[in-house]
Amino acid sequence: MPFDFSAKAGGTSLAAAEVLFPQDASTEDVVLHCLHTLTCEKDLDTAFYLFLKAVGSYYHAARAQIFEFNVRDKTISNTFEWCAENIPSQLVEFHCLPLADFLEFIDKFSSDGEFYLDLKHLREQGESADLRVPYADDCDCMMASPLLHEGRIVGFISVDNPTQHSGDLSLLRSVSDIVQVELEQRRLLERLEHMSYTDTLTGLRNRNHYDRLMKEYEERTPESLGIVFASLNGMKRINNAHGTAYGDQIIIKAAQVLRENLSGTVFRIGGDEFAVLSEGISREDFERETIAMHSAFAAERDFSAAVGCVWRADVENVPSLLLEASETLNAGKQAYYQSLFAKGEVTSHVGASGELVREIAEGRFMVYYQPQVNIHTGKIVGAEALVRKRDAAGAPIPPNKFIPLYEREGIIAHVDLFVMAQACAAMRVWLDEGFDLHLSVNFSRVTLLQRGIVDTMRKICEQNHVPPSHITIEVTESISKMDQKQLQELLRSINEIGFTVSLDDFGSQYSNLSILSLMDFDEIKFDRSLVDKLEENQKSRVVMENSIKMCHGLKNVSTLAEGIETAGQLALLKSYQCDYGQGYFFSKPVPPEEFRRLLETGIDVFL
Ligand code: C2E
Ligand code: MG
Ligand code: MG
Repeated sequence: MPFDFSAKAGGTSLAAAEVLFPQDASTEDVVLHCLHTLTCEKDLDTAFYLFLKAVGSYYHAARAQIFEFNVRDKTISNTFEWCAENIPSQLVEFHCLPLADFLEFIDKFSSDGEFYLDLKHLREQGESADLRVPYADDCDCMMASPLLHEGRIVGFISVDNPTQHSGDLSLLRSVSDIVQVELEQRRLLERLEHMSYTDTLTGLRNRNHYDRLMKEYEERTPESLGIVFASLNGMKRINNAHGTAYGDQIIIKAAQVLRENLSGTVFRIGGDEFAVLSEGISREDFERETIAMHSAFAAERDFSAAVGCVWRADVENVPSLLLEASETLNAGKQAYYQSLFAKGEVTSHVGASGELVREIAEGRFMVYYQPQVNIHTGKIVGAEALVRKRDAAGAPIPPNKFIPLYEREGIIAHVDLFVMAQACAAMRVWLDEGFDLHLSVNFSRVTLLQRGIVDTMRKICEQNHVPPSHITIEVTESISKMDQKQLQELLRSINEIGFTVSLDDFGSQYSNLSILSLMDFDEIKFDRSLVDKLEENQKSRVVMENSIKMCHGLKNVSTLAEGIETAGQLALLKSYQCDYGQGYFFSKPVPPEEFRRLLETGIDVFL
């Protein structure tokens, strides 16, 4: 073998693949080399560039090119090209030219197969030339060989200005078959890949594609990102009532609404679920587009969709933004279920939501009360309302066993509102009995995302004749993941009605100090994890003492320590000027009757 190609082919860098054949390289050597290049190089463009470079080098030519026909558009394009130094590219110029201009050329392929053309000579003959050559003026001679597919000419490979082996058409003839087979295989693979990333019903990108993008987001984060999740309501019912063909039409229509109103990339990520990701979009544009999308969905008579939209600049963590969008979507879905329920259109078997509502109605949930105590006077100032669920046999199930699940399913609002209603009803009785007290209820971020939630909360108070100023809404730091504008608006309306807001679990592993500067809270609740190390850990004492000081430095913020279990912890908190306490040391969460007794008797732990 006169030259060694093993070290040159197969790389991905163009520069690394410099190939110049020795004068005496045989056609077979070059064919072998070309074959090797095409089969070893993964990237299509690089493979064909290297291949054409080998062909061009063999002929000492100015260019080597591949032209392909597009039968549907009746055009021809230069799809791959190699040019010698200082020779201009024709890729742009020779793109989608009319196939009609090449008819004589194609005829020549039919009659001669591959051929050599002395273009200079033909041009000199001018009008009398018997072959119209739609070819570049800088080309004096050329060689070309047709690419055949099932006997039809589908393109050609050509070499411009060959200065060596120029009469030798055997190389072009040999490689044209290889090129055609390789092109077909690669295009087939491309088509297969396209199919595996495309949803056949809507033509949208599919779940695979979405998952691939999610993987990509592990490596990079977009500058800004707008996310829309949309889920069609009641697809199962639609399919059952009208058949799946009709259901398919609904899905196609929904895809159209998304595609027409949003500029981002639309994915169909589940049977009736879509995701739209708009990278680099401004907040204004995103809002404008989503408003248009909402109205387009609202105008649809045959179906409705629950939608969750989130936009963020300086995205740090795409998964948490996705979670937020899906929580917003779930809240929307929830509203849909509630509307069905109100209309009496659903019974117990509409998914988890219906089942939960049924369980609440059957009395499977109860509210326990854990006293909150003024650390300095020892007086019970109120309680935290904590939900409990009874299993089928009546045994209590603790909230962490079911709350995360309901949050994931987006149906937690039922629980939160039930607890609030129970707490308000109990509160009315206790207020009437002359106890002046305050109740705290926990609200999940998912609940707070629900449209119209503050109005619902206000109505619950109204129905029970409880002034909202007697109710504290406990939220956790996770709400800071909400869109800032939306969050501020939410807190403003909660405050406006008269509720107070407490930041729960402060100091737990997930908490972040910045939340205190982002928004105003009426109370900070220090997490049990801080309290339970107070006695044995000097650092915990420093953290706790200074955190309490910091809260007192903020305007009108009271402090409450959770999980107080010992007299020692209580004494330390008292010395740090913590305002209120809650924990087993005073009382475990207890049923309402028992809490009522505690209100009467007081808690006897202050010696
Ligand atoms: P949380 O809001 O931080 O409630 C305090 C939890 O700490 C309660 O657990 C309470 O029983 C427990 N606890 C209080 N004092 C002590 C103590 O001295 N020692 C120990 N070891 N534990 C103490 P619980 O009732 O199991 O509730 C767990 C969490 O479930 C709550 O944490 C809250 O995040 C959530 N949760 C409870 N009820 C509701 C509700 O109605 N809605 C929502 N969204 N979440 C709720
Ligand atoms: Mg709480
Ligand atoms: Mg807590």
